[in-house]
Amino acid sequence: MTSSQASSSTCDIAIIGAGQAALQTIASLKSGGFDGTITLVGDEAYLPYQRPPLSKKFLNGTFERDRLFLKPDNFYTDNAINIMLETQVIEMDVAAKSLTCANGGTIDFSKAVICTGSRPRALPIPGHDLENIFDLRTIADIEAMRPHFEQGAKMVVVGGGYIGLETAASARQLGVEVTVVEAAERVLARVTKPELSAFFHQLHLDRGVEITTGAQVSEFVGETYVSGVTLNDGTFVPANLVVLGIGIVPNTELAETAGLSIDDGIVVDAFGRTSHADIYAAGDCTNHPNDLLGRRLRLESVPNAIDQGKAVASDILGAPEAYSAVPWFWSDQYETKLQIAGLSDTADSLCLRGSYESGSFAIFHFAGTKLVCVEAVNRPAEFMASRQLIKEAAGGRIYEADMLVNESVKPKSWLA
Ligand code: NAP
Repeated sequence: MTSSQASSSTCDIAIIGAGQAALQTIASLKSGGFDGTITLVGDEAYLPYQRPPLSKKFLNGTFERDRLFLKPDNFYTDNAINIMLETQVIEMDVAAKSLTCANGGTIDFSKAVICTGSRPRALPIPGHDLENIFDLRTIADIEAMRPHFEQGAKMVVVGGGYIGLETAASARQLGVEVTVVEAAERVLARVTKPELSAFFHQLHLDRGVEITTGAQVSEFVGETYVSGVTLNDGTFVPANLVVLGIGIVPNTELAETAGLSIDDGIVVDAFGRTSHADIYAAGDCTNHPNDLLGRRLRLESVPNAIDQGKAVASDILGAPEAYSAVPWFWSDQYETKLQIAGLSDTADSLCLRGSYESGSFAIFHFAGTKLVCVEAVNRPAEFMASRQLIKEAAGGRIYEADMLVNESVKPKSWLA
């Protein structure tokens, strides 16, 4: 099933990258009756797996590795998918419709789907190559860092985004002392408004996490192993390990050197078609149109990878169904479940259902009179209804704040 040996092969569909978008494209092609040949090329050692548990249950040891895989091995053998793992595609010749791999092998294709995802942003400051400084993106990253997560260890997390805060929560549950260093003035600044940032900031303080905002790490200190970090104001923070969660960079280089259109991601249409008729792209690496938001964007989320994978497969199958989805996200930190529907970046007002103090609430964000985002904390019923609410709001429906915040009105009835 696997190969990192040089070989020459031909297939109908070549899928580059073996993550969530790739798996969904294959699953949708097969369930749609596609009977051509499919080759899946991935540079990791693993078949497609879920990344969300990596910073949570896989890190804190309550989720076994086998449970991460999106499909069992026999899905690939039963469907005759040619799998090439630990294989990096280094060149795509769109005129010849051929891929060249780092091991010298080639793959000729009729159509290709680029699902190359993204990689952690690097922090190339002095000391960056010391031992015990980890990215958090892959199974291998977690397996390397997990032995260091022990009672009393000291960890610095650089970045107070989802990765940083989920890692902090997992570490505290294992008795690790944690300091989060965030460059922005508040945590989760890239993905939410100040009210929710303040809630999560306090949640982590209550669990004993130290948080420094408006600060950057200027140096990693140590001999062979990291022993701490120096912040840009000169403060030294001791650490046995450092986890970096400072954002991601979309893997667009292959597409770019192949001459495909790039603009903060590989430019695709609502069916995942790139600027070349026989080449598609899906997932984190794409810049795509969203009809419900009325703009193009690049999204770093599992639901987006799934929906785009489906759209690509539908087009290849000759029954195109355009991508049209309200973006959504979730994050588990301690016992707190955050679920977000929509995007709050354009919002200028909000109303609150429940209370921050109770740890159970939903924030409704509006851009003018239009509902654009719902952030639900330990409020699954509100979240379930909210995706539909936002979709209808995109079509012009106006919601009264009084109805949304009134706890005697059940979320289900909003949809009536
Ligand atoms: P992120 O959401 O972009 O957050 C990274 C944070 O690090 C930002 O607030 C960023 O601030 C800050 N930062 C950047 N450079 C820094 C520096 N030198 N020192 C200190 N802070 C710095 O990315 P992430 O948390 O690393 O997550 C990576 C990807 O995985 C994202 O796509 C994320 O959405 C995804 N993910 C999602 C979930 C989820 O949905 N639950 C969970 C885990 C990961 P600036 O914005 O000011 O640069």
